[in-house]
Parts: sequence; C-alpha cells; structure tokens
Amino acid sequence: MAMADPGQKQERELTDIVDPKLVTDLLSTPPPGPAGLKSILRKARELKGLTLEEAAALLNLNEESELQDIYAAAGEVKQKVYGRRIVLFAPLYISNRCSNNCLYCGFRRDNRSLKRKVLAPEEIGREARALAEKGFQRVLLVAGEGHEGTDVDYLVEAVKAVYRYSPLRIVHLNVAPQTVAGFKRLKEAGAGVYQCFQETYHPDTYRLLHPSGPKADYGWRLTVMHRAMEGGFNDVGMGALLGLYDYRYEVLASISHARALERDYGAGPHTMSIPRMRPAKGAALTQVPHPLSDTDFRKVVAVYRLALPYVGLVLTTRERPEFRDELIHIGISQMSAGSCVSPGGYAEPEDPAAQFEVSDHRPLERILEIILSQGYLPSFCTACYRVGRTGGRFTGLARQGEIKRFCLPNALLSFKEYLLDKGAPELRKKGEKVIEKALEEIEDTTLRQATEAKLSKIEEGYRDIYF
Ligand code: SAM
Ligand code: SF4
Repeated sequence: MAMADPGQKQERELTDIVDPKLVTDLLSTPPPGPAGLKSILRKARELKGLTLEEAAALLNLNEESELQDIYAAAGEVKQKVYGRRIVLFAPLYISNRCSNNCLYCGFRRDNRSLKRKVLAPEEIGREARALAEKGFQRVLLVAGEGHEGTDVDYLVEAVKAVYRYSPLRIVHLNVAPQTVAGFKRLKEAGAGVYQCFQETYHPDTYRLLHPSGPKADYGWRLTVMHRAMEGGFNDVGMGALLGLYDYRYEVLASISHARALERDYGAGPHTMSIPRMRPAKGAALTQVPHPLSDTDFRKVVAVYRLALPYVGLVLTTRERPEFRDELIHIGISQMSAGSCVSPGGYAEPEDPAAQFEVSDHRPLERILEIILSQGYLPSFCTACYRVGRTGGRFTGLARQGEIKRFCLPNALLSFKEYLLDKGAPELRKKGEKVIEKALEEIEDTTLRQATEAKLSKIEEGYRDIYF
C-alpha cells in the first residue's frame, strides 16, 4: 500500500493497518487449554510467530504455571534469534520544546513550569561526546514536536552534528512524524532507525489524550511507518505507551501494525518498544489511566517475542532495576542504560528539564556487570545499519535464526573494544573470561577463527571492526 505524502487518512487505509473493532472483538478470546497452549508454544518455538487470535489467547492467560511456560518459550525464542547478546544504547534529548499537548508528558505545550531548551549543533556534539566517553556507540535522538527549532531542517543538522562532533557510530531517531520527503532527507543525513510510538491504538482514547497540535491527528500518526518506509527507512521502531488503555488491546494492535508493514514492505518493524507510563512533572494526568501490573508487563514482553520473533525488543530505564534484570530472561534484546531524559543533561547532569521520571539510575558499567552476571553478553554493535543488513534482509535472517551468526561475533568485537578503552580492571577481567567462553560456543570453525583474528586486531589497536 503506497502512502500518499499528505497521508490521506481514508478510513479503509487506517483499518487496513489496525482495525479497532477486530481488535476489540479479539479481547474476548478465551485462554487456550493445556493442549492448545502446547501447540501454540511449539509453533512459536519454531520462530513461526503467532496469529492475532493466538496472541489474544495468550494475553488472557492468568494461571502462574502457564505464564511461566510462555516466559520460558519467549526466552528460548530470543536465544534462537539473537543468541545471548543484549545491545546497549542511550537516548540523547535534543529539544523539549513542543507544540503538542499530550496529557501524560512533561514536555507538553501547556506545561509552563518547564524550562525549554533546543540544543544547538555544537551542544548536541557535546552531549554525543559525553555518551561516547562513557562507551556508547549508538544513540537515539529524541525531541518534542514543533516548528520553532525542531522541524526537519533542524533534525537533519542534529543527525549530522552527532557524526561531525563525536565518534558515535549510528544515530537513531525518535522524533515527530515526517512527510515522505522529510524522511528522505533524514535518511540521507545518515539516520539509522526511525522510531515513533503510536501511544494508544484506541482512536477514542487517542483523541482524548492528544487534544491539540499536529499529534491530535490519529491517522497521520498511524500511517507514519508507511511514510518512513517510503522515504527510505528500511528499519522502523514501533510501540504503544503502556498504561493509556487496555494493554491487551495495545499489544494486539501493535502486532496488527507490524503485520501491515510485513504485507506492504516485506519487512516488519526492526524494533518494538515497551514504554510504560511514568509520573511526569507538569503532565496533566496525575494517574495512569489503565495501570498494568508487573505480571501484565511480563506477558506483554513474552507475547511480543513469540508473535514477532525477529523483532528487537527494547527495554528502557522507565522500569525498575530489579525488574529490568529479570526481563532480560524473557525476550528483551536491547536496553538503554544511564539515561538522561532532558536536553543537555549528560554534559550538565543537574538539569531538571526532564520528560518523565526515570526508574533505573544505574550507570552503564553497573548494567554491564549485571548483564554478564546473568549469563548474557553486552553488545555495542552497529554493524547491520552500516553494511545494509536492514529491512527485509535483516528480518529474513532473523526469522531463519541466522542473524545471530553476525550478532555473537559482533558483540564480542564491540564489547572487547569497550573493555580495552573504557573497562575498569575488575570488569575487564570478568569480560575477557566471558569473551573466551563465548568464542568456544561458535561452532562454525571458519567463523570462530575469523572472529579470533579480528579480536587480535583490536588488541593491536585497530577499532570498529565487524562482520
Ligand atoms: N515528541 C515525539 C513524539 O511524541 O513522538 C518524540 C519524542 S517523545 C519525547 C518520546 C516518547 O516518550 C513518546 O512517544 C511517549 O511514548 C513517551 N512518553 C511521554 N510521556 C511519557 C511518560 N509520562 N512516561 C513514559 N513515557 C512517556
Ligand atoms: Fe510533545 Fe512528544 Fe511529549 Fe507529546 S509525547 S508532548 S509530542 S514531546
């Protein structure tokens, strides 16, 4: 389905992506019986995904032992697709100026108490260098929406500023929906993934929570991934802000959105995020409208992993430390760490202009230790975006369980660089041991030897080596 630039929001186009009535009807799908559950999980373990009906049935499960079964299956699927690696990234907030009024957000236009800031290219460079200094290689630029300083010209300059002023290797974006022409310019500037959350896929709730500004248009937002794909972004990131409406509805609608991209572009989303609403100073909402429990949240993670086995499942610092550590086992493949959610906050940490309250304040180094101690492998890899393993090519490899042939060696190489350049002695010792052990796990002799050779190069001082 080709998307016209003005994003004509014909009803049929929108329901082709997410049909609210269909999703609502699915909510009454009964949970599967023991035999049904077994057969759904068998299929999911073969990386065949889930139908919407199967996903709905799993979301209605409440029996603890059955929930444990789906968590275990989700952990296995993650392992089959991506292996043990967990990719790390950090957000870089470039502007908190916004012309929208999303009731849950601290950046909303009517929050007069927020100090507004739009970073200039040099300031963006300073933030990017502060992140590179900590050891990050990939960054997610985040901005409010509006004409004053955050239009496409500004965003293009922001992407370029990161590459010009810092050694960071890839810039992803979480910014307002653009036109196809706008997306083309951002892609040309070197952006990697375009990420945008629908917030809620429930049209009535959407209208209520987004009363004014460009974001008030549900259809313009729902069609954004199609425009991004048309504009050359093979990799897009989706998500719903959990807590705004029934979480089961949001998960089913997101899966339907992913299926629409698969149908229209031969590639589903590169990532699925699972942001849960947090308190925000100056937001209009003081309570979460549809709170979800930790058990509900675990279910969300597991069902996404089973339904969309190829997807990068992204967990942010909105969640509590001990809960994040637990979620690693049930399907997460990417995590942010040491995040600051206000523009300029890395270079000047005392800045109070935050979007919402972060829950996990642990620094990157601590997160790396936890990942290692849980038997996983931290990765700072940025290879796929830079060699064109994107879109359908990437999801195809992921579906066949082949992408981990790249992920594991690249995790070892990028983590080795981190250890040599940034690692404290204790972490370096632990990390080197894990690298040794992981090398032994590469069954393909040629690949293992090639990885060993590249690791030696890194020891000799070469950098940015990958498959
Ligand atoms: N302004 C752009 C937009 O709204 O798409 C992009 C950046 S916005 C700062 C990034 C995301 O932050 C939003 O899509 C929303 O899901 C999330 N967010 C807003 N308020 C939040 C809150 N109180 N708790 C958690 N996440 C929040
Ligand atoms: Fe602005 Fe995005 Fe916050 Fe909405 S969520 S007020 S668009 S920054």
